Amino acid sequence: METEYRFLSYFCSIFNFLQMKIHEHQAKEILKKYGVPVPIGYVAYTVEQAVEAARMLPTDIAVVKAQIHAGGRGKGGGVKIARSPEDVGKLAQHMLGMTLITHQTGPEGRKVSRLLIEQGVDILKEYYAGIVLDRATAKNVVMVSTEGGMEIEKVAEESPEKIVKVFVDPAIGFRDFEARELAFALGLLGEAFKQCVAFLKALYRAYEDTDASLFEINPLVLTRDAKMIALDAKVNFDDNAMFRHPEYAPLRDLAEEDPLEVEASKSNLNYIKLDGNVGCMVNGAGLAMATMDIIKLAGGEPANFLDVGGGANKDTVAEGFRIILSDPHVKAILINIFGGIVRCDRVATGVVEASHLVHPTVPIVVRLEGTNAEEAGVILQKSGLNFLVAKGMADAAKKVTQALAA
Ligand code: ADP
Ligand code: MG
Repeated sequence: METEYRFLSYFCSIFNFLQMKIHEHQAKEILKKYGVPVPIGYVAYTVEQAVEAARMLPTDIAVVKAQIHAGGRGKGGGVKIARSPEDVGKLAQHMLGMTLITHQTGPEGRKVSRLLIEQGVDILKEYYAGIVLDRATAKNVVMVSTEGGMEIEKVAEESPEKIVKVFVDPAIGFRDFEARELAFALGLLGEAFKQCVAFLKALYRAYEDTDASLFEINPLVLTRDAKMIALDAKVNFDDNAMFRHPEYAPLRDLAEEDPLEVEASKSNLNYIKLDGNVGCMVNGAGLAMATMDIIKLAGGEPANFLDVGGGANKDTVAEGFRIILSDPHVKAILINIFGGIVRCDRVATGVVEASHLVHPTVPIVVRLEGTNAEEAGVILQKSGLNFLVAKGMADAAKKVTQALAA
């Protein structure tokens, strides 16, 4: 049972990886195109641009918002109110270049290199609205909550009844009565109710059209003049659909991504950095996840997920190996390859070549099974490098954790 959960959590982190994240200011530009009301605002990379942006706003009150791919900025000091363009300048001076730490960034935080300078909105009440693909029902789910501005995960845990959901039939789409049901659940009346229905419908259209995998508007606010506005916007796209949206490719901000993951994606490797110290090189996502599970079962912690892919050649293997070794946390490596499409001898050659280039100093356990496994064994032996050869998965996991302890 526990293993199943681990599997699920890996799957989720991998699923998460398969989403392209964008900044709030970019998300709001997209929403605007679909008729979803957002505050007037401009992106700024320098203090001068920030002041200039503030002068263009229709309100004296401006909000200076750090643009990083993480939430919780408000509490972390990444969202500040300014009363004049001069104020905006001072705040921008302070915020640009700072390392912002929020509950979503991890302790190392994120460097702020751009800001959103936005009109101050007169908030009457904050709500939550989100759309996400629910894998269990294979439907998009539109969610709203009266508990806006709070961490929705917390609301889900402590008072799940405060999140109202509609599961959308993909053959029919999001229907008007469903939008009304959600607006009603927020307790809205009159003009605000009408605005909210229109908001949710436009939001859903945007979500479907852009092949998004997550939309989160937290908070969605009701203003004093009965308008519903997206005050924050988190938009993730489904990576697998990005070929249909070349226009979104430039929105990717590599500075927000793990440098090793960026490098790996250039070589078409599915690599995700994790917190442990056992580097894993595996072919096939299922085997990769099973390998991580068995490492955990043997008492170790995987340092990464790496699927070199079914069609891996010795160059991709070498590149994968180099990337694993570039992670300073890696203290031992487990190579677990099933030679189905890719032959084991090719993998072995790639590993040996990469070893000559990067000179690994950590123990390496190898388990190769399938086509040309024997030839592969010979290649490894002849290499003069110190590989620990394992028989079977359990043995491999045991050997790698023992190597760590030694
Ligand atoms: P995060 O979720 O990263 O903390 P938000 O964009 O949700 O960032 O901003 C945090 C809070 O700051 C919001 O809940 C809202 O109360 C306030 N806020 C954000 N943008 C504006 C704005 N344009 N006008 C007024 N208040 C704002
Ligand atoms: Mg927010």
